[in-house]
Amino acid sequence: MSFRLHKGETFSLVGESGCGKTTAASLILLLNEPTSGEVRFENMSLTGLSVAERKAYTRQVQAVFQDPYGALNPRMRVGSIIGEPMEVHGYSRTERQQRILEAIKAVELLDGSEKKFPHEFSGGQRQRIGIARALTMDPTLIVLDEPVSNLDVSIRSQILNLLKDLQDERGISYLLISHDMASVEYMSHHIGVMYLGRLVEVGESEDVTHRPLHPYTATLVAAATPPGRTPAWQLPIIGEVPSPLNMPTGCAFHTRCPYAMDICREVRPVLTEVDGQRQVACHLYPDHVDSIDKDLTESK
Ligand code: SF4
Repeated sequence: MSFRLHKGETFSLVGESGCGKTTAASLILLLNEPTSGEVRFENMSLTGLSVAERKAYTRQVQAVFQDPYGALNPRMRVGSIIGEPMEVHGYSRTERQQRILEAIKAVELLDGSEKKFPHEFSGGQRQRIGIARALTMDPTLIVLDEPVSNLDVSIRSQILNLLKDLQDERGISYLLISHDMASVEYMSHHIGVMYLGRLVEVGESEDVTHRPLHPYTATLVAAATPPGRTPAWQLPIIGEVPSPLNMPTGCAFHTRCPYAMDICREVRPVLTEVDGQRQVACHLYPDHVDSIDKDLTESK
């Protein structure tokens, strides 16, 4: 997979559980090594980094994880949790103290929060602590792995708005990993839709969420469309994701796609530019798209 994440923008990877989006994030965060191929970031291969290069990279690429309860050590005070990455990177005690207080202010936690323990905070506040920890390193990229999916719906928009404000102020790029199309549409400049380990559609957020081209994207969009709004394609999600250990031949989505043709079972479609701004991996384009029925609701 290959995608372009512009400075100060958000690129989201979406797809069902098991599609590989978290694996992609863990490779970018150097938590796993690729079994084949390589990860490149700003024209630099992340394979075989020297100790100094690895340190410089992990300074500018930070992460905020899904579980605000499990991600914070309950025995450490919040100040120590926020300051941990700086300690690893050898910042002086004075600089750590200053940056911890600045980060607490930036995520709108109360003064004195650094002296408390994680259990004294709500889920939303704990996620703010996780964001503060990432901010202390002045990162150019933050990987947001399902940052609001464990939070109450009422809190989600507060955290997303905070992330947006921080991006506007600091020019941080985000790689957002999510299965929640509503959060993705709100946050993203560009979206990549993944299915069984591959990108099947990449485009601007507005295009992908309002005018999906790939049938799999269309099912995700239709499933997330709120009552009263009609999705571009009336396409229900059918069946289960096949096991990645037993990948379907040809297009991996052909076992669930109502438009599957003979070629789909034999030839894997590659990601191809369709309208200048968009890439899609589907044999419907450009030859068959005019003849397909986009309304496959059960009532028909
Ligand atoms: Fe469906 Fe064929 Fe397109 Fe795959 S390539 S999404 S099976 S139409």
